[in-house]
Order: sequence, then structure tokens, then C-alpha cells
Amino acid sequence: MKQRNFIRLNVAMTKHLFVASPHYFWVNLVNSLQNAGAFIAQTLLYKYIIDAIIYGKLSLADVAVWFGGYYVLLTVKYAINFLVQNKFNEIQKGRITLYYKKWICGESVKKNIALYHSPQYKDMVYNAVYGDGEYLIRFSERLFALIYSVIVLIFFVGVFAGLHPMMLIMILVLALKNMKIGSKKSKVQYERYRNNLPFERTNTDIHHLFLQKQYVRELRLYPIGDLLIDKFAANKQAQWKADKHCRNKAICLDVTNDAVDLLVHVANLIVLTWLLFTKAITVGEFSLLLTNFTTAVNNLQGILSFPVNIWEDGKYIGDIYEVADKEDFVFPRVQQDTQARMVAFKDISYAYNEEPVLKDINIELPLDKKIAIVGENGSGKSTFMKLLLGLYRPVSGEIHYYYPEQNVKNSLDLFGIMLQDYRIFPLSIKENIVLGEETEEDQQRMLADAISFSELDKKIEAQPNGTDAVLTGEFAEGGTGLSGGELQRVAISRAYYGEKPVLILDEPASNLDPAAQRHLMSKLRELPAGRGVILSTHNILETQNLDMVLTFKDGRIVEYGTPEELLEKKGYYYEMYVTALGE
Ligand code: ADP
Repeated sequence: MKQRNFIRLNVAMTKHLFVASPHYFWVNLVNSLQNAGAFIAQTLLYKYIIDAIIYGKLSLADVAVWFGGYYVLLTVKYAINFLVQNKFNEIQKGRITLYYKKWICGESVKKNIALYHSPQYKDMVYNAVYGDGEYLIRFSERLFALIYSVIVLIFFVGVFAGLHPMMLIMILVLALKNMKIGSKKSKVQYERYRNNLPFERTNTDIHHLFLQKQYVRELRLYPIGDLLIDKFAANKQAQWKADKHCRNKAICLDVTNDAVDLLVHVANLIVLTWLLFTKAITVGEFSLLLTNFTTAVNNLQGILSFPVNIWEDGKYIGDIYEVADKEDFVFPRVQQDTQARMVAFKDISYAYNEEPVLKDINIELPLDKKIAIVGENGSGKSTFMKLLLGLYRPVSGEIHYYYPEQNVKNSLDLFGIMLQDYRIFPLSIKENIVLGEETEEDQQRMLADAISFSELDKKIEAQPNGTDAVLTGEFAEGGTGLSGGELQRVAISRAYYGEKPVLILDEPASNLDPAAQRHLMSKLRELPAGRGVILSTHNILETQNLDMVLTFKDGRIVEYGTPEELLEKKGYYYEMYVTALGE
């Protein structure tokens, strides 16, 4: 694993914590000081009361008063702890979680889509996104624990200093042993968590299939459910196997730890009893030392282990940063100091895996024309469009964007987009379409335009909630269902909504009936001159009235020109056209 600067990572997380909840740190710091103070006072009081009772210095009434004081002290301590932990911290931790989610979910959508081809990246995103921000809190908790331990230990040194050196040696031995085993255990724990990650992600992915309506429906129709359960079982079995080595190591460490603990505790009891018999200590001291031996060990261990622990935490935090540190994906820049309105592809090739999907693409695509891309399934049309959007980067070659408008800075400002495999979210129709941060008035107007463009308006008028109708019931009661064609209209409205200079639509009419297909095509043709359209379609006859046609075959552009030119040429487009006429 890559060596990471663990201090930098912990400090970076603490900075996040300060932004998420500025008061969290200070309130908990003061609380840990309060706890240390209360612990010392409580311990001294306890010892004093026992000795006073045994050696007869106090009357019964005095004892009652002291116990009363002891009780008040404890009550105050618990009341403060209760308020801090159950009231203040619960609310602040909610805030920290929200902050974390916003941060890491935001980070995850900024990254390059190509990263999702790597299972390792998916494991890391899964880990980061499913987390609740506990990493933000951990470093500060370690710090509070350290401060508490230092104070309590200084107190113990005062109490233990005059005692038999055996006691001190035992405390030291036990603390060192705990530290050593603790550090080994953290290493094993981290190894286990890393080993388990791919299996956990697969488990979650399989579970999701049984939660989502679309999949559950298919599972009812086709007997695939058992197969998925088999996959789940196989995954669990593989996880069990992969974890075996670490699991055994962890068990060995636990057994060793408990055996040494037992030995030292018995030795401690013998030494203390001996000290009591020889009158080297009072009964109060005997009781104090017996009950607090473990506390002393834990606090010493807490101090010794601090660097080890934050080193180990650094590994987990590093995994979160594995996602956050990945270079942000930026959409390609548009050159504005030009009169040209076009995208120039120069010697472009692209491959998802080994096999090239696009080859030798050289073309200057005008952005103020209505252009159709045609070709067989799998010929590379969608891939070409994704490259055009800037969603994927070419393996070789360059793509340049030219558009002389000041507000068009990158490819996302340029294109309104509908992908072939678009997703509609389980939100309202409006939330699925409205993208920007325009004023309410502009939003209403743009939404109405977008809905009317895709001819979704009649459907929406029939909805009691209008555009607020929710598209499935994941997040809300009820919810409405739309037909495949209607969902496609939502996707078209979303592409249209931003009033971007160019519409890019990948088979936008695939789910529409023939009349609706013709409507959509004529609407696209009738868009104002200068507003570009680039669409892929299998409807060759409908491409006739467009400005340009681009044909794809086996990842190459075969022809490019006006429909008339291509028909005259009697090439590939002509072939497809004649076939379509015959159908
Ligand atoms: P078209 O849009 O013309 O139907 P695509 O661009 O979708 O074609 O696909 C071109 C080729 O790239 C196909 O052979 C397809 O199998 C392959 N392909 C598409 N998407 C992926 C992907 N995400 N991973 C691997 N191969 C892909």
C-alpha cells in the first residue's frame, strides 16, 4: 500500500470537522477536561471515605454527608456527560454526517466516468459513499482521549509513585503489551476491511436488485432470483475464505492478550494483598489500587498508542481521499475567440477495453446545423456522442470546440443532452427536468417550454399534482407511473430545458409511436436557425429534411454530407435509405 502522510490526512479531516461543526471540538475538549477532573475528585473522595470508615475517623452522620457529596459529584458528572453525548453530540454528529455526505457525494460525481471501469475504484467509492463521516470525528476523539489520559496518568503517578516498584513494572508491562497487541490487531483489522470491501460491495449490489421495483418486476417474470441468491451465497463463501487467514490471526491475538492479562492481574492481586498485610498501604489505597489498576494501564496505553492509532486511522482516511484526491473531471474547454461554431475531431480513436470502438475519426461538425448520425447497432454512434459531450476522453487524437459566446465556457455549457441509456430519477417530473438555479419565474417558463417541446404537456395536465407528480414511490407515498414513451419525453424535456445552443439526442424517438416520432423530428427541424441539433436515429426516412447526415460503420465515419449529396452518391446511406423505403 502507498505510504501516506498520516498527519496531513488527519489534519485535513480535522479541518473538515471544524467546518462541519465548529462547536463540536471545543465542547468535547472541555468535557474531557471535566471528566478527568471529576475522575480524580471521585477517586480521592472514595479512598478518603473508605479509610475514614475503617479507621474510625468519621461519625455515621459525617459519612452520610460525604456520601451525599460523592453522590452529588457523580450526578453532576453524569448530567453533563448525558447532555453532551445524548443531546449536543447527537445533533452535531447529524450535522457532521450531512457535511460529509455533501462533500464525498459531491466529490464522487466530479470524477471521471472512466474510473468506473475499475473495480478497485468502485470499492473505494462504495466505502466512501456508504460512510457516515465517522472519520471526521475520529481524530478529535483520539485527541480528547489523549488529553484525558495525560491528566489521569499524572494523577496516578502521584498515587503510585511511593508504592512497590513491582506495581509500576506491572502497569508498564501491561500497557506495553496492550499497545503492541493493539497495534497488531489494528493492522489485521485494516487488512480484513480491505479484503472484505469487494465482497461487501457485491453483497450490497445484489441486495439492491431485490429492493428496486424495476428489478423486482423482472425477477417475478423470469426465474433469475435463485441464480442471484446462488451468487450471493458464492460471494459469502468466497468472503469467508478470503477472511480466514486474518480471522485466525485476530483470534490468536485475542487469546494471547487475555492470557497475559489474566497472569498480570493475578500477580497484581498478590502484590497488593501482600502490601496490605505488611501495612504498606491502607484499605482505602488497596481498594483504589485494585479498582484502578486497569484504568492506569489503559491510560498509559492510551498515551503510548496515540501515534500508532492515528497512523492506523490514516489508512482509513487515506481510502476516503483515494476518491477525493482523484483528479476532478472537467468538461473540455470551448474556444470563444473565434467566429467558428463547430467541433473538430482530429485523428480520434477510442476503446473501452482492448478492442477499438472508434477509429480514425476526422471531422468538423458544425454546431448550428441539424445533423443526423446513422448506422447499425454497435457501429459506435453512442460512443461518438459521449466523446462529443466530453464525457469520455479519446485514447488518441484531439477534439477542439469553437463557439463565440461568452457564457459558453465548456462542452456542458454548449450541449443539452439526452443519452440513449438515460436515467429518470425517483423524484418529481419537475425535479427531473429543472436543472439550473434560475429564478422561479424563468424556471416556470423554461419548464413549460421544455414540456411543450416534448409534448408531455397533455400527460401533465391529467396529473392531479401536475409537474410535482413523483415518478416512483422510493422517497414518497404514492407516485405515478409513466409509459416508456412518456419517460422518454421527460428525458427530452431535460435536454431541452437549459436552452443550450446545441441539442444532443441519442435515439430520442426509440420509444415513441410513429406519429410522435414524426412530430419530434419536425419540431427539431423547426428549431430556430442557428440552434444546433445532433441526433442519432434509425429512422432513415426522417433524416431527409435535415441539414447533414453522418454515417457510421464499424467505428468509422463512412460518409458525411447533405442527405441529397449522400443519396446521389449511392453509397451506404443510399443503401439504408432504399432498404427503409422497401419496409
Ligand atoms: P451504437 O450507439 O452505434 O449502437 P455504441 O457506441 O453504443 O454503438 O457501441 C459501440 C461498441 O462499443 C459496441 O460494440 C459495444 O459493445 C461497445 N461498448 C459500448 N459501451 C461500452 C462499455 N461501456 N464498455 C465496453 N464496451 C462498450
